[in-house]
Amino acid sequence: MNPSTIHEPARETPIIANVDVLVVGSGPAGIAAALAAAREGASTMLIERYGYLGGMITGAYVVAILGVGDGNQPVARGITAEIRERLMPLGGIKPMHAGTEEEYDEFGPSGDYIVDAELFKWQAAEMLVEAGVRLRLHTLACDPLMDGNRVIGLAVESKSGREAILASVVIDCSADADLAYRAGAPCDNATHEVTLGMRLEAVDRERVEAYRQANPAAYDAALSAARQLNGGVLPGGSRRLRDIDIADAEALTRAEVEARHGAFTALQLLRQRVPGYEQARIAATFPQLGVRQGRRIRGEIVVTDEDLRNNRRYDDGIARLGVYFPDWGPTYRIRGLAYDLPYRCLVPQGVDGLLVAGRCVSSDYVACNTLRLIVPCFCTGQAAGAAAGIAVELGCAPRAVPADTLRQALARQGVNLG
Ligand SMILES: Cc1cc2nc3c(=O)[nH]c(=O)nc-3n(C[C@H](O)[C@H](O)[C@H](O)COP(=O)(O)OP(=O)(O)OC[C@H]3O[C@@H](n4cnc5c(N)ncnc54)[C@H](O)[C@@H]3O)c2cc1C
Repeated sequence: MNPSTIHEPARETPIIANVDVLVVGSGPAGIAAALAAAREGASTMLIERYGYLGGMITGAYVVAILGVGDGNQPVARGITAEIRERLMPLGGIKPMHAGTEEEYDEFGPSGDYIVDAELFKWQAAEMLVEAGVRLRLHTLACDPLMDGNRVIGLAVESKSGREAILASVVIDCSADADLAYRAGAPCDNATHEVTLGMRLEAVDRERVEAYRQANPAAYDAALSAARQLNGGVLPGGSRRLRDIDIADAEALTRAEVEARHGAFTALQLLRQRVPGYEQARIAATFPQLGVRQGRRIRGEIVVTDEDLRNNRRYDDGIARLGVYFPDWGPTYRIRGLAYDLPYRCLVPQGVDGLLVAGRCVSSDYVACNTLRLIVPCFCTGQAAGAAAGIAVELGCAPRAVPADTLRQALARQGVNLG
């Protein structure tokens, strides 16, 4: 009988750092967490598996920073505002609402903005280095190191081999709560559509349009056949693959293969059948698969859809926000909301020495669709970083950080607490 497991021998792992706060992941949550922790005076290190910072912003070109306002006016400040101000003079910001009247109506005076992904990569690194954060790119955080139910650091793997980093507080900003899950924190996992973004170029739109007018039936048939090959969208469109479990590498592999298969076979067909597409090519597929939802921790409190709709306030509120995005569709379905995000949704049940920020904080499935927007991720990241810094300063567990002290720190850091 073939064994189903193998026993790996124990080994000595070099400790390469011993820091106050160790952040995993450099998406909006991780960047904000590392900045906030360092600004609270904590020695801080940030681990990222790729060679650039930004998470989905730069890995999947999700450059529309949504969730700044409540549909009537901008609400979020803190890191959200700082990044805008930092990139603005470099020409790295466009307002989201500077479009057609229809778009203006959809987005309202939201304060939402669009970033230049390359400038973002550069400036995020500059900001972190200026704040004194030690960066470690090309490094995968693998396993939490535990002392009982307390996380005391992480084992990481990279070109340098397997290494250990010790920390008083670890902040899991991996987007999928990978480290929290491995540390034993209770989690929920839900699938949502995933998208492999891509850039199509060299379509001669004028010739395509001329063909459409001259041969409408043949044109429609060709486009319909192309869409059928590619999950309902033309190559270059935002195809949504369903039922992909992001916690399963086999499923992620299937998604990558299927997304490319569909797009390229559809494109071959269009090149053969539609004049104007002959030279068309997929010039880039984005480095990171766009994942909308995955694992979420169960924390000291679970933020629900109802909490957001009903403007729920909390004594441990770490940010006042106002955007509501239950699922697909216009972002500001309900205008003028003003709800709090509670600190307790960053604190996992049953595991100490650990906080979580970003799209994997403790919420229900529908609320997660709002909390996964980039601005709420900046907010939970900034709060987790500040809380971790305070926990180190006070010598207490993150779950014992006094709400008042945290709120004072966040107010000093420019966060809107309402
Ligand atoms: C297709 C798509 C479109 C979207 N559109 C919008 C939009 O228009 N506006 C908007 O505001 N939001 C949008 N979102 C949502 C938003 O982009 C994400 O929810 C948000 O970026 C999540 O932030 P995060 O910091 O939690 O995680 P991420 O941005 O995913 O960052 C996580 C980081 O952690 C790193 N990481 C993970 N595991 C490890 C590990 N073990 N070791 C080291 N590093 C690790 C990853 O490489 C990554 O850099 C969209 C999402 C998708 C998928």
